[in-house]
Amino acid sequence: MTRRSDPKALPNDQLLQQVQSLVSRTNRDLAELLWHLAEVDARGLYRDEACSSMFTYCRDRLGFSEPVAFKRITAARLVRKFPAILRRVACGDLHLTALKTLAKVLTAENHGRVLAAAAGKKTHEVEMLVASLAPKPDVPPRIRKLPDRDGTSVGRDGGRGGGGSGPPQLAMEDERTPGTPHSPSPVAAAPAPRPDRGTVAPLREDRFRVQFTASAELRDKLRRAEELLGPVRAGAGAGGDIALVVERALDQLIEVLEKRRFAKTSRPQKKKRPRKPGTRYVPRQVRREVAERDGGRCTFVDKAGRRCEERRALELHHKHAFALGGAATTGNMALICRSHNALEAERDFGSEHMERARRSKEAAPRRTPEASGEARPRERQLTDARPPPTSCVRDGGLLGTGFAATTAWS
Ligand SMILES: [Zn+2]
Repeated sequence: MTRRSDPKALPNDQLLQQVQSLVSRTNRDLAELLWHLAEVDARGLYRDEACSSMFTYCRDRLGFSEPVAFKRITAARLVRKFPAILRRVACGDLHLTALKTLAKVLTAENHGRVLAAAAGKKTHEVEMLVASLAPKPDVPPRIRKLPDRDGTSVGRDGGRGGGGSGPPQLAMEDERTPGTPHSPSPVAAAPAPRPDRGTVAPLREDRFRVQFTASAELRDKLRRAEELLGPVRAGAGAGGDIALVVERALDQLIEVLEKRRFAKTSRPQKKKRPRKPGTRYVPRQVRREVAERDGGRCTFVDKAGRRCEERRALELHHKHAFALGGAATTGNMALICRSHNALEAERDFGSEHMERARRSKEAAPRRTPEASGEARPRERQLTDARPPPTSCVRDGGLLGTGFAATTAWS
């Protein structure tokens, strides 16, 4: 490896440039690697390396992890069929996950058009593209009991739905990519378990399969809400009761959160409350106007004119800092994500000052807002914003009492 300059010694602009250059080189190397892997696969050379399949060769001889081996083999086989892919990988237009997703729909007739449409797209956008090219039928609503930790109990809940459609089986289906004369099923033996992180997968352009692991309490709440709603309305959709219950619940949750965070209301108060001088309180009307104007998205724009896409955990930012006399007016306030709020603070006050402030805040005992002179909870509603909790679908500890819920949403 060529010795390059120490990143710690580089100024910010040069460091970012260097990273961009390394990524470009990595993309070119990846395209080259796929090209060569495709040829090794075509010649069946993994057998000469005492491997029974291309997958084993990639994992055991080349040291790839199982997911990486699978993606690279899938991509290499696509490259053999559609060499135009190499150019797009080399210039960073297509990543391996996109290729894995596209593998299901690429044909000799459509590959030029589909590859162009997928270029530069994020994974979920490629999934939408594939769903529009190969629409799937709705999935039936279903709640089923997951296996216990030791995998011995696979109970069914209420006899609804079939088993075995969870992530492991999906993984095996993914891995059955087109075979070659030398390797009819090169990756079939790959270990397939994947963590259940919940999925929202497009079935068609306007329908989605939603799957997640829930606690027994949530299962009971779904049932109770179903009972209270009564029979499903005609035309409620193939997602059935679960989708209807969740959609109604989310309607109410969104209304509550928008009211709390952005002071959104259908009946805004006309009478303005007097504001104490020196307070950080941001009037509800200002919050409403700022949220409306900024479209619920971070307003930070970089030197190249690109706007940050973050919509989670947004905070209200004083463009002219509050500590420097900036007022809580619609013109001086903007929605901004936590990272960029911190960056703006560093620009206003210096990174050393902010670091000292952060350390002293961490070291200080927790105080009530009133005692600390900070904004009251209602005034900090935006800064209290947190991304939705995901531990319920990530925590393997829930497996013993977990339930897999699947439904189709539009
Ligand atoms: Zn941002």
